[in-house]
Amino acid sequence: MKIAIITGITGQDGSYLAKLLVEKGYKVVGTTRSYNQSSTEKLKYLGIQDSVKIEEADMSDVFSTIKLINKYAPDEIYNLAAQSSVGLSFEQPIGTLQYNITSVLNILEAIRMSNSKIKFYQASSSEMYGKVKKLPITEDTALHPLSPYAISKATAYWTVVNYRESYNLFACNGILFNHESYLRSNNFFVKKIIRESIAISKNKQEVLKVGNIDIKRDFGFTPDYVQAMWLLMQHHTAEDITICSGKSIYLREIIIHIFKNLGISEDKLIIDPTLFRPVDIEDMYGDNTKAKVIIGWQYDKSFFNVLDLILEEELRLNTVSS
Ligand code: NAP
Repeated sequence: MKIAIITGITGQDGSYLAKLLVEKGYKVVGTTRSYNQSSTEKLKYLGIQDSVKIEEADMSDVFSTIKLINKYAPDEIYNLAAQSSVGLSFEQPIGTLQYNITSVLNILEAIRMSNSKIKFYQASSSEMYGKVKKLPITEDTALHPLSPYAISKATAYWTVVNYRESYNLFACNGILFNHESYLRSNNFFVKKIIRESIAISKNKQEVLKVGNIDIKRDFGFTPDYVQAMWLLMQHHTAEDITICSGKSIYLREIIIHIFKNLGISEDKLIIDPTLFRPVDIEDMYGDNTKAKVIIGWQYDKSFFNVLDLILEEELRLNTVSS
C-alpha cells in the first residue's frame, strides 16, 4: 500500500486530493497546523474523515517536518499547505513569504536527509507569471510575480527546480490556474459572488460590492485539477506542468451568469474602487498541451457549468445566513 502525506489536507485541494488517493487505495496522512472540529469539515463533506489520518504539524518548523516524515515513511508528499490568498498576502506579506517558502525548503531538506526516493509535489500557482507579455502562458513563460503571494510561490518553484537539479530528487511543480468547487473558502472571488448573490436573492443583502471585474482569468474545476497532481507524480520523470482550462472569462461574466440564474437585476452590482488590487493583469490564460500530452490529463469543462454546480450545491445546503 502506498503512503501519501498531504500537507494542508483541510483545504479545498487537500480534501479533494485525499478523496482521490483514498479511492486509489493509498494510506493518506494529512497535516493541519491546529486540529479542531471545523478543520475536518471539508473531509466530512466528502465522506472521508475516517479514511485519513490527521496529524498536527507545522511545515514551517523543521523538526515538525522531519518528525512527520520519519514517522510515516511516505512514498509521496503533496505540499498544499500555504497562505493561499493573494489579497491577504498584501496585508500579511512577511507571514506569507515566511510560511510559503520555509515550508518548502524544510520538506525538501527533510527528504534529502531521510530518503531521497520520496516523491515531492509542490502546489505552484499561475500567479507566479503575473505581468505576462504573451498569451497563452506555457511552462516557458518568464515569471514576473505581482504580489507577495506570487513572490512566495515563485521562490518555492525555483527551490523545487534547484533541489531536483542539484540532488536528483523527484520534485515537481504543478502550476495550477484558478480552480473552484463548493469547498473553496468563502473569501475567494467565485464563492463570495455566489454566496452574496444568494443573500441578495433572499433579501438578506442589498447589493454586491466588487473591485475590478473587467479582467479575465482562466478557471477550472477542482476535482479534475487534483487528478492532474496525482498524474504528475506517477510520471517516470519529475516535470513542471501548467494545469489550466486553456480559456479565460471576464469576472463580470461570472457575476452576470449568477445574477441571471438567481433572477437578480444588474443594478444590484456596485463597483467599489477601494476594492481594487494594487496591481492587476488584464487577461491570463494558459496552454494545457503539456499536461494533456505528457501526463495524459483530460479537461474540457465549460466554467459556466462549474458555476451552476457550485450554485446548486450552495442552494441545496442552504448555509447562506447573512
Ligand atoms: P486552502 O483551501 O487555503 O488550503 C490551504 C491549507 O493550508 C489550509 O487549509 C491550512 O490548513 C493550511 N495552511 C498552512 N499554513 C497556512 C498559513 N500560513 N496560512 C493559511 N493556511 C495555511 O488552499 P487550496 O485552494 O486548497 O490550495 C492548495 C494549494 O494550492 C495552496 O498552496 C495554494 O496556494 C495553491 N494553489 C491554489 C489554487 C486555487 O485556485 N485554489 C491555484 C494555484 C495554487 P490548516 O489551517 O488546517 O493548517
